[in-house]
Amino acid sequence: MTDAAYDALVVGAGHNGLACAAYLARSGRKVLVLEAGEQPGGLAATREFADGFRVSAAAHLLNMLSPELVKDLALERHGLAYAARNLKTVVLPGDGRQLVIDGDRLAGASASDQAAFAEFQRRMRRYAKVLNRFCARPFPRLTERRGRDNWLLAKLAWDVRTLGKADMRELLRIGAINIHDVVEEKFENPLLKAALSMDAVLGSHMGPRSPNTVYAYLHRHLNDAGAGSALVKGGMGALGAAFAAAAEASGAAIRYRQRVTRIDLADCRAAGVTLADGSAIAAPLVVSNADLKSTFRLVGPLNLDAGFVRRVHNFRARGVTAKLHLALDGLPEFPGLDPTDAGSRLLAAATMDGIEGAFNHAKYGECSPEPIMEISIPTVHDDSLAPPGKHVLSAVAQYAPYTLKAGWPAGREAFMRSCLGRLEAISPGIGERVIAAELLTPPDFEARFGVRGGHWHHGEIALDQALFTRPVPGANHYATPVPGLYLCGASTHPGGGLLGLAGRNSAKAILSGEDAS
Ligand SMILES: Cc1cc2nc3c(=O)[nH]c(=O)nc-3n(C[C@H](O)[C@H](O)[C@H](O)COP(=O)(O)OP(=O)(O)OC[C@H]3O[C@@H](n4cnc5c(N)ncnc54)[C@H](O)[C@@H]3O)c2cc1C
Repeated sequence: MTDAAYDALVVGAGHNGLACAAYLARSGRKVLVLEAGEQPGGLAATREFADGFRVSAAAHLLNMLSPELVKDLALERHGLAYAARNLKTVVLPGDGRQLVIDGDRLAGASASDQAAFAEFQRRMRRYAKVLNRFCARPFPRLTERRGRDNWLLAKLAWDVRTLGKADMRELLRIGAINIHDVVEEKFENPLLKAALSMDAVLGSHMGPRSPNTVYAYLHRHLNDAGAGSALVKGGMGALGAAFAAAAEASGAAIRYRQRVTRIDLADCRAAGVTLADGSAIAAPLVVSNADLKSTFRLVGPLNLDAGFVRRVHNFRARGVTAKLHLALDGLPEFPGLDPTDAGSRLLAAATMDGIEGAFNHAKYGECSPEPIMEISIPTVHDDSLAPPGKHVLSAVAQYAPYTLKAGWPAGREAFMRSCLGRLEAISPGIGERVIAAELLTPPDFEARFGVRGGHWHHGEIALDQALFTRPVPGANHYATPVPGLYLCGASTHPGGGLLGLAGRNSAKAILSGEDAS
């Protein structure tokens, strides 16, 4: 092993790894980021999937990114630009009906639903704002507390208290049920109920009736000021590039095509890493942006306590989300949809029962024959992604379980057909416009982006894997049982989605000398 030329090595240049690297470098540490892939951003990537057609390969809509982080890392100065902001959500069940959600306004719903929706939004936003305060910093320790933990806990308790009696009582009530029951009692319109349920289940192995869906709904609305989703100009890879530029401007170095195959230990401490080509790089601090399971594979189970290995093994991280990309020879038509709304966030779902029915298949290792889809046609707003006059369609499709009973080689074609069938129902004739198509499944995300299980959040967002228990006891404050080894990716608090908070919180924990509890 060489002498340590770096103070810290960051394994992975996902947006969280880059945020962490930027903050560590700003504190004067000499930081090197090692990325297995060819570009920064991890799941925030743009890829050419057909000649001249580019698309956001995984994450495609931005709605959670911490505005504080955008400002602090000067991401806009480093190249982040939006092709569209404040996108409407349009629910298309495929029978000519539709519902448009534009901020707090609904078109296509009754006056009573409109009033109930405005009240629901107000309340959920208040809850999400408090949750955001829990998420914007490392979670204080509940055991082995230090002075600042007591102070932070008191502050968080005060934040909850400021909700007032009525909102607090309601939070306790709905937190214990599920999104299906919550929206069922508040609204009449099935399309509205389906849209709100989708917000709770996208990316997770859950249906609307699953426990934890209210928490997942709130998680999705972290940093949401009610404005709707945004599209990044040039696809989500441009967000990854902005994070990389910010990290480099802060003083971090980044090397691509550098797969870490081992986290090296000396005297039971992290001492550096070994790369796929056999070379080693030494550093007293290693921070992993890889998911929990991948990280501890790099450490090796023999170097860990058996109880901890079991907890890592039991962390639920099997993805159910696929991505469909279509190259189209023109803009598809959606009957009943105002053509100016074709660039909105389109939801292909009709009822909560339909979503639950789609999820039922995933429970038994099958793909849904009638998938639910979150669709975006980014080329309506961004002509850099396709040749003139042509379009790209990007759709998140569920449910496509990581472990498919029939196996993915056999299941891929069938799920692609199901997705195209669903699209044909909301946009008759779209099939004839398809020049090229690609389906990325959870095993594809594992193979291409190194996320074990291919999970949206690197692990389920659920109360037993959230806040002070995320990802697992023993690694829940970014520090791990291996001194000198920290985590900074979506497996950690507050979880996945393009937030950047896990990376920033991890840097804060490292800089404050946090160790494992
Ligand atoms: C299909 C899909 C759709 C999604 N859609 C959205 C969306 O629309 N909006 C949204 O906000 N979120 C979305 N997400 C979630 C979001 O993309 C992720 O939660 C987020 O990008 C995770 O960021 P990260 O930096 O923690 O990890 P990642 O982005 O996974 O980055 C980890 C990095 O570490 C690297 N790495 C791993 N192992 C090694 C190794 N051994 N050596 C070197 N490098 C290594 C990887 O190559 C990768 O670059 C989606 C996720 C999926 C899967």
